[in-house]
Amino acid sequence: PKPFSVEDVRADFPILQSYVNGAPLVYFDNGATTQKPWAVLRAMEDYYTGYNSNVHRGVHTLSQQATAAYEEAREIIAQFINAKSSHEVVYTKGTTDGVNLVAASFGKKYIGEGDEIIISAMEHHSNIVPWQICCEDRKASLKVIPVNENGELKMDVFKSMLNDKVKLISVAHISNTLGTINPVKEIIELAHARNIPVMLDGAQGIAHVPVDVQAMDVDFYAFSSHKIYGPTGIGVLYAKEKWLEALPPYQGGGDMIKTVSFEKTVYNDPPLKFEAGTPAIAESIGLGAALKYLKSLDLEGLHAYEAHLNKVALEKLLEIDELRLIGNAAQRNGAISFLVGKHHPTDVGELLDQQGIAVRTGHHCTQPLMDLFGIPGTVRASLTFYNTEEEINKLVAGIKKAVIMLNK
Ligand code: PMP
Repeated sequence: PKPFSVEDVRADFPILQSYVNGAPLVYFDNGATTQKPWAVLRAMEDYYTGYNSNVHRGVHTLSQQATAAYEEAREIIAQFINAKSSHEVVYTKGTTDGVNLVAASFGKKYIGEGDEIIISAMEHHSNIVPWQICCEDRKASLKVIPVNENGELKMDVFKSMLNDKVKLISVAHISNTLGTINPVKEIIELAHARNIPVMLDGAQGIAHVPVDVQAMDVDFYAFSSHKIYGPTGIGVLYAKEKWLEALPPYQGGGDMIKTVSFEKTVYNDPPLKFEAGTPAIAESIGLGAALKYLKSLDLEGLHAYEAHLNKVALEKLLEIDELRLIGNAAQRNGAISFLVGKHHPTDVGELLDQQGIAVRTGHHCTQPLMDLFGIPGTVRASLTFYNTEEEINKLVAGIKKAVIMLNK
């Protein structure tokens, strides 16, 4: 591919040319959802205008075309995360759905009274609540790896938490609130030394670091398409084949069966065993197109650019006197969370929005983490490869302007 150029990629995302409140859009809310390139929009339009049909059902041409595109997307996903085979790729609705699937299915088979599940203090609610439900159901207990003041996992405490009662560990690859990149390889090695499987919440990881599920040796990896330039409503649960073979189905219905009678139903082979009902067809094709688009870019150059952008953003934001950074992990990418003076994050966010700058404010679905820092929420700027240094300058100027207005 051609060397990475931010001007070139910006032209691929139509929304980046738009204006918000009279100013060119500056989109720093990529942690919540990313924008979509033409390649994704066109792939979905092509499906609806050219071969809209249900999958795995009909002998007719359109259905076969739809099935081929749906399964080709699965192949693209498998290659993107370096799964051993596309049989290890289960389509879900998103990260939340993937965690719920594992919590319900793994929980039912492998978690019993007195067992323990480990998560961390920086988890998104979607990697907390499904485990709470599971623990309540199975009479197990949820254990939490603490986080230090920089927003990093306390690994020494984690090591001391490992024992024979622990049946599963589920942590974020990258924190959506702090941007911390967790030492997942080390976590997985420590866990596997005791035969404990590990699930990673890859909602943010998938967009910001190369993901190689085999190199990580991770057991389960969940992510959402919409955070990696694809549509909403679709996501992926990667699981090692042995788990997909062993786990009971999550939901019953069409497509997940081989034969059904009132006496006995034979389930389909994985991954279809976990895909009951008509799936999100256009969306899966859209996700495939998003990953294909990324693969067409100079990914090394892209990651280097993103790292540079993160560094510049941090440096420039820290030059603002009143700014207090929340979380300062040595390994970080994506989200930058901060507070400005004593001002409420919402007030800062609204004043930025008036200048066309989109940031997220609030607790970012990580209320326990906010409690730990003793704050109600933060302003979060989350960057990606189509952002520019000029946009960072606008953010810094925008915050300074907001401070002047709020201090009045
Ligand atoms: N985990 C993390 C770390 C996230 O950032 C998000 C989305 N904010 C989720 C889980 C949930 O993803 P979704 O809402 O797409 O299921």
